[in-house]
Amino acid sequence: MKTIYLDNNATTTISPEVLNEMLPYLKEFYGNPSSGHSFGRNLYYKIEQAREKVALLIGAEPEEIIFTSCGTESDNTAIRSAIQLDKKKQHIITTQVEHPAVLNLAKYMERKGYKVTYLPVDRTGKLDIDALMHVIDDEPAIVSIMYANNETGVIFPIAEIGTICRERGILFHTDAVQAVGKVPIDVKKLGVDMLSMSGHKLHAPKGIGALYVRKGCRFFPYLLGGHQEYGQRAGTENLASIVALGKACELALENIPCEQINVAGLRDLLELNLTNKCSDIFINGCGSERLSNTLNISFSNVDSEAFLHRLDKYGICASAGSACSSSSSEPSHVLRAMRVPDAAIHGSIRFSLSRYTIVDEVNTVIDIIPEIINELRGSPIFRNCE
Ligand code: PLP
Repeated sequence: MKTIYLDNNATTTISPEVLNEMLPYLKEFYGNPSSGHSFGRNLYYKIEQAREKVALLIGAEPEEIIFTSCGTESDNTAIRSAIQLDKKKQHIITTQVEHPAVLNLAKYMERKGYKVTYLPVDRTGKLDIDALMHVIDDEPAIVSIMYANNETGVIFPIAEIGTICRERGILFHTDAVQAVGKVPIDVKKLGVDMLSMSGHKLHAPKGIGALYVRKGCRFFPYLLGGHQEYGQRAGTENLASIVALGKACELALENIPCEQINVAGLRDLLELNLTNKCSDIFINGCGSERLSNTLNISFSNVDSEAFLHRLDKYGICASAGSACSSSSSEPSHVLRAMRVPDAAIHGSIRFSLSRYTIVDEVNTVIDIIPEIINELRGSPIFRNCE
């Protein structure tokens, strides 16, 4: 059975060009770029080349890019740096719908005595900017607001928030893990101080990420140790994956304009057909600007775990909530914040496409889902609910 992979917000396949580019650095050229001998030292330029490519994708200068191990590390580094640098400011502003990489650190800081403001969103997933205006003058240590939501794809007005923060001299971080490689990003126009990204969301391997830190922004490293990354992130460089991330960024830069159109076309095909063929469904994030690859649907009176199980039998990969929380039957905190009704929240499924998704795969999914829905809704559990 062929796998139909529609879970690209969880992770993506490594693109063939990226794999080719990184393999020599896992095989022949395995030296340590910090070594004194030429076998290692001569590899150092590959890190700088990759840094340039990552910087180019987001409109940054190469020296503003720090390689990390993942999006979670980038998020933790940014927020912990702000906390470390100004211990008098004991307030963090974030949102109710962040990824656990931010949310769980915020909750930890709350337990340590910090005040944390979790900004709400509306029924369509839009951020309440008025709520931000009410709390921002309290001189927070940092405002950390995601660029695009991993579950719904809803995009937040980062440039607008950047202006609000800059006017007040407040540090602003954005978790752009789901946005980098999917939408054009120019950090200068956004007015962000720090921005997180992760390789495995844009066809590079898992275990590599990056943090943009604006030139002039005060910064305190999370990992202390060797002098790698100009002393900003200790640890022997993951050269092969750094090379891979550079290549993935180069490809993304070339492909974003046509990919946005192609992927949106397939996502819209899926959305339109499912809306026509299935009753009692709701598109989460509909009415807000969304990533072109993401479709989050609530199917009323359907259990998402049973649904995913049926999809799995056909080789279709999707998810309920974020990958990190998919083993728990707790409804998604994002959909809760959006006040999705109880009958629908338990039947919410996320499909996320990529440049490798093809129309035949989407058509197969369109044919199969109405059958699954009818079967699940006809099952005794749901008949009893009616
Ligand atoms: N932030 C967002 C919005 C994400 O979607 C994810 C992963 O799903 C992360 C952070 C964590 O990234 P990583 O898996 O690279 O640690």
